[in-house]
Amino acid sequence: MLLLLAAASLDAAAAALRLAGETMGTRYSLSVRNPTLPAAELQAEIDALLEDINDAMSTWRPTSELSRLNQTADTAWIALSPALHEVLTAAATVSAQTAGAFDATVGPVVNLWGFGPQTRVPVPPPADALTAARARVGFRQLQLADAPPRARKTRPDLYVDLSAIAKGYAVDRVAGWLADRGHRDFMVEIGGEIVSRGHAEAGRPWQIGVAWPTPDSTDVERVLSLGDTALATSGDYQRYFEFEGKRYAHEIDPATGRPIEHALAAVTVLHASCMYADAYATGLLVLGPTRGPALARELGLTALFLIRDGTSFRAVTTGELAGEEAD
Ligand code: ADP
Ligand code: MG
Repeated sequence: MLLLLAAASLDAAAAALRLAGETMGTRYSLSVRNPTLPAAELQAEIDALLEDINDAMSTWRPTSELSRLNQTADTAWIALSPALHEVLTAAATVSAQTAGAFDATVGPVVNLWGFGPQTRVPVPPPADALTAARARVGFRQLQLADAPPRARKTRPDLYVDLSAIAKGYAVDRVAGWLADRGHRDFMVEIGGEIVSRGHAEAGRPWQIGVAWPTPDSTDVERVLSLGDTALATSGDYQRYFEFEGKRYAHEIDPATGRPIEHALAAVTVLHASCMYADAYATGLLVLGPTRGPALARELGLTALFLIRDGTSFRAVTTGELAGEEAD
């Protein structure tokens, strides 16, 4: 989730309208220069858009389109909204590219570890329950087709969790909506996933500080100047539980059915699409400190990896950030 401090908020003098609210179990914020609507109207429109997106793809809403797909035992083709189809298609693409390190069908295992909509006592699950949940995982078990958009569950108990990609998609949609209304300079953020366009003020780019990956860190590892881009971060230190002195993160490695356990603490991905940045950040985090950067280079992704090194961290960068290492 987020390790990003919106630097615009440090700069009260900036002449941008700032709005904030709640969505998707987290907070959103946006800064818009020269808003073309009154603030209250702008916020109402954005809240309505976010509600629509939650109604399509939230697993926390039992009546959402995705929850209905999860609940049905029907293995025939089922019609999808274009929005849900778009996100499921991107999820399938990133699943294939990351060899299943990102996999939205890992939901039953996520839920078993206590990170899903049903809150439960956070203890490691029994082995037999884990084996049963893992049998339900595999992104190829959801078939997708378009014209018209549709999906087919190849097993009745397939369960899809879009928590690792839906926030990025929502940020893209809010950014698209703002651009359609004539805005040129803005930054939109939901739970640390960001899209920026234009400038914070004349001649000065939007900037964000990437914090070191500790739960209470406010130390900035580096400041990134953003042009027209999207950026998303996944880390193992924001949502986790502790049991018998051991920490369990909310990113599950589909290959093991267990929370990730390696030295890679956080991944930030820059991409034209926030939806893809979000999914890649999760996939690369799951892949770990060696395979994550290797795949990022192979795919030509721009990413920042923060890796635990004894009591401190080291940074590894790829793509357009490559060579910017401090050490
Ligand atoms: P955040 O939601 O903090 O930004 P992520 O984008 O990494 O973090 O998403 C983590 C969430 O995605 C988990 O809470 C879980 O619901 C789901 N998830 C966990 N592991 C995976 C995985 N390997 N692939 C896809 N989704 C996952
Ligand atoms: Mg993600």
